Amino acid sequence: MTGPRFVAVAVPIPLRRLFSYRVPDTLVPDPAPGCRVRVPLGRRDVVGTVVCSPYDPPPEGARVRDIKEVLDQEPSVAPDILSLTRFVSDYYLCSWGEAIEAALPPDPGRGRTVRLVARPTGAGLEQLSARATARRRILESLTEGGEPVPVTDLPDRDRKHLRALQQAGLVVITAVQAVPATAAATVEAGAVRPELVPTPAQSRVLKEIGPAVAGKGWAPFLLFGATGSGKTEVYLRAAEQTLASGRGVIYLVPEIGLTPLLMQRLKGRFGSQVEVLHSRLSRSDRYRAWTRIKAGDCRFVVGTRSAVFAPVQDPGLLVVDEEQDPSYKQQETPRYNGRDLAVLRAREAGAVLILGSATPSMESFRHATAGRYRLLRLGGRVGDRPLATVRLVDMREEYRVNGEVQAMAGPLTDAITARLSREEQTLILRNRRGYAVSVFCPGCGNRIQCEHCSITLTWHRRDDRLRCHGCDLERATPARCPQCDEPGLQFLGEGSEKIEDVLRTRFPEAAIARMDRDAVRRKGAHESLLNRFDAGEVDIMVGTQMIAKGHDFPGVTLVGILSADQSLGLPDFRAGERVFQLLTQVSGRAGRGDKPGEVVLQAFDPDHPVLMEAIRQDYEAFYKREVEYRRALRYPPFTAMVQLLVSDRNPGKAAIWADQLAEAVRQEGQGRLIVSGPGLAPVERLRGKYRQQILIRSAGRRKMVDAVGRALEKLDPRIPRRAVVVDVDPYNLL
Ligand code: ADP
Ligand code: ZN
Repeated sequence: MTGPRFVAVAVPIPLRRLFSYRVPDTLVPDPAPGCRVRVPLGRRDVVGTVVCSPYDPPPEGARVRDIKEVLDQEPSVAPDILSLTRFVSDYYLCSWGEAIEAALPPDPGRGRTVRLVARPTGAGLEQLSARATARRRILESLTEGGEPVPVTDLPDRDRKHLRALQQAGLVVITAVQAVPATAAATVEAGAVRPELVPTPAQSRVLKEIGPAVAGKGWAPFLLFGATGSGKTEVYLRAAEQTLASGRGVIYLVPEIGLTPLLMQRLKGRFGSQVEVLHSRLSRSDRYRAWTRIKAGDCRFVVGTRSAVFAPVQDPGLLVVDEEQDPSYKQQETPRYNGRDLAVLRAREAGAVLILGSATPSMESFRHATAGRYRLLRLGGRVGDRPLATVRLVDMREEYRVNGEVQAMAGPLTDAITARLSREEQTLILRNRRGYAVSVFCPGCGNRIQCEHCSITLTWHRRDDRLRCHGCDLERATPARCPQCDEPGLQFLGEGSEKIEDVLRTRFPEAAIARMDRDAVRRKGAHESLLNRFDAGEVDIMVGTQMIAKGHDFPGVTLVGILSADQSLGLPDFRAGERVFQLLTQVSGRAGRGDKPGEVVLQAFDPDHPVLMEAIRQDYEAFYKREVEYRRALRYPPFTAMVQLLVSDRNPGKAAIWADQLAEAVRQEGQGRLIVSGPGLAPVERLRGKYRQQILIRSAGRRKMVDAVGRALEKLDPRIPRRAVVVDVDPYNLL
């Protein structure tokens, strides 16, 4: 007869420790590691995960409570995912429970559904009271005459918003018993494409990958090839080989990368073996997909960053396409990078890793040049299709000649005219949404700012509202300056919405569309826009960086880039890398079909080295220069970095706490860390909170992260936990 039994449970709260619970005598056997359990915590119940069973008895006199319920027959979290999430917790300084929560699908949408009855007009929307933003967002996510949507899939689930919308007669809310039985498949099986014969370059690369797949051991590759060089084809062949060998495949794509075209290609070739996991799926669909994967019914998972946690058994291949893409980095706790976890998971599983890119991240390319990844060069485009020719327009010169700053200079409008006459398509990149970028009062010099953020409001003309791109606050456009009551407000700067207008005026006969976050807000809008463009129904598409990614439009022969150099001045050491990547990517959209492409790039600083390198599409020249800058200033990849953000409504408190924290980090680091700050973050105020930033760098990552962890543990308990955000390997220093 044994005594009381204990297990260790990880719960999804920000405390980085495990909790001991007693297994009630009625419960036999002990719940296995990976099983989810309901446990009491303080005055509430939470769902946690058993991570250690059995566990040591608690110290004498400690209060230990009983597990209330075991929720799983079989562990939800397999041993490999358990250790992956434990790594996340150590590496990103979050709790193990938070990491596990990120690895599991969200609760499926049980409960209630909402159906749109009527869509109100502008005035009707105003009557939804001051909380109109959330309510408008809910309405926008619903389609008229569409299927009822589970409440859990809405962008905002606050009961009071739903009740208000119901009372206004705009939606109907229905209680349902179970998950609505929609079809699991989200993609039609496409026509099976004729088998492609690998090009010589693809064969050469596959000759290196093939033995690695067959060898069933850890083998990391960096596949470096221009857009259109046939990387996807390489991934798919490696996947076929892996599946044939009986192991699974995880294929990560950026947030935006799940285009209908790629899905057709996958379904056509792999049929029901493929399952898709991404955040735009409904909760119930995501849950269903996860269950199928867990059961081993499909062994090929394609998805966005969280798919790195997919419960694929024995993965033999992990692919990360566009490995440099910022969307792999999660911007909320746990702030993990899906690419880096893919590297780790592949190593732990003894799998082949393929990171693919036309513009690899500085980190990955350095690993490759240092021999830690095998560098595979795929070279230029398939079929010797030339890369687009790039024409640079010096906007200073245009200004001198025309006496005014034009959104689109003569060379670009001429190039568009030529495309229209040949019935070819044009993409225009303007990486800023809205109509006027700021609203300026010439009476007092005020630029209208958000009440909650140190960010100027953007004027969105279509619905005549001012919006904050930091916190989504919106309000009606004032007729006079809110500060000095002067009429005559000036609307300055040209966002994508304005460019769309300029194009319509200049080319009234052309079919013009816009793709940015505003234009694709409604469910399905993004896909339908891509399909329309693909079908040739649109001549010119203007948009933000959304237009740069992952689409293969053979009809595009011209890409126009407006204010190419604008982001180079951002206070982020990755600014140059970002601009180079964006310019290369968007240029890669031109001339994917049979006709050669052209890129017209407008800039006020045309001699900037990043622009010159982007024009020549010379990644390695860019890398060689950039890597020296990083080395000299001791930035990643030569150091690892942690960003600490301390924020509070009271600017004084934020500053004092940040001082204490920085001091603690310096002490724990014992002079071995580079600690910059605290100082005000580039965005000083966000959502009403003042933000202090501390940047910590060190050549030795492990010691630095541990030191930061200790500093956080020793922090004055009066400083609220929520006031401090820890970001290891930050991607966005604003
Ligand atoms: P990437 O992923 O590098 O951008 P893709 O794999 O999408 O490139 O290939 C670019 C284009 O070339 C696609 O239209 C694809 O169908 C075509 N392609 C790829 N490999 C071959 C091949 N071996 N033979 C003929 N066409 C190919
Ligand atoms: Zn704001």
